[in-house]
Amino acid sequence: MLDMIRSETHPLDAPLPPPPQAQPADVALFLDLDGTLLDFAARPDAVVVEDGLRTRLRRLRTALGGALALLSGRSLQQIDALLGLPEAAAAGLHGAELRRANGRVSQLRPEAERLEALRDRARAIAAALPGVLLEDKGVAFALHYRNVPDAAPEVERAAHELLRFGGAGFELQAGNRVVELKPAGVDKGVALAALMLEAPFAGRVPWMLGDDLTDEHAFARVEELGGVSILVGERRPTRARHALADPAAARAWLAALADAAATQPMEVR
Ligand SMILES: [Mg+2]
Repeated sequence: MLDMIRSETHPLDAPLPPPPQAQPADVALFLDLDGTLLDFAARPDAVVVEDGLRTRLRRLRTALGGALALLSGRSLQQIDALLGLPEAAAAGLHGAELRRANGRVSQLRPEAERLEALRDRARAIAAALPGVLLEDKGVAFALHYRNVPDAAPEVERAAHELLRFGGAGFELQAGNRVVELKPAGVDKGVALAALMLEAPFAGRVPWMLGDDLTDEHAFARVEELGGVSILVGERRPTRARHALADPAAARAWLAALADAAATQPMEVR
């Protein structure tokens, strides 16, 4: 799939420059959470959010006229519990849940019986893989192997077994020491494009910060829309055109943007 966007001018594994200077009045900001703003923890429920980050995100969202959205593999409920920003636009479960800027939420809901059968199968699969953690997200099932990285090939095989069992309507999303079965047809790029059609995002330049394979869908949309794509971390290849070293660098970048946005003259649109 990545071959499709290989180009002479932008080798996918080239060293990437830092982000350009942002003009807050024109920015629509899209942010991944884990591995981007938050450092990874041994378990997804063990991540730490600094108080300063919550306050900064709230201030920045206001300064951007509401044009700030969170795009995560976590559920909307988890995103809100972590950040305390339930008024913000957000895509949960890689886009299977979408909350627009006006607060309206749409959710892709696979048939309950099928989900129940998938859940049972996912539990059985995880139980047979010591050290692998099953994260049940309701309509998506993630197999985390952060604590047993050598188990990658077995987890990959198990995920494909789960995909065959799930059948049409589901697809796999690989990530940083995780493989996840999720509803097909939604991804962070689709979610970003949907949000960009509406106020207050429409007419602004999309900026996307992300670290993982699931963020590549959003990077691709951002590039199509003439925006700014920023990879957090060392993973390659990527479609992103800019990079920041790690989540600490991403948080510092966000803080600088929040300061710049707070001091800009208010613009009437
Ligand atoms: Mg991430």
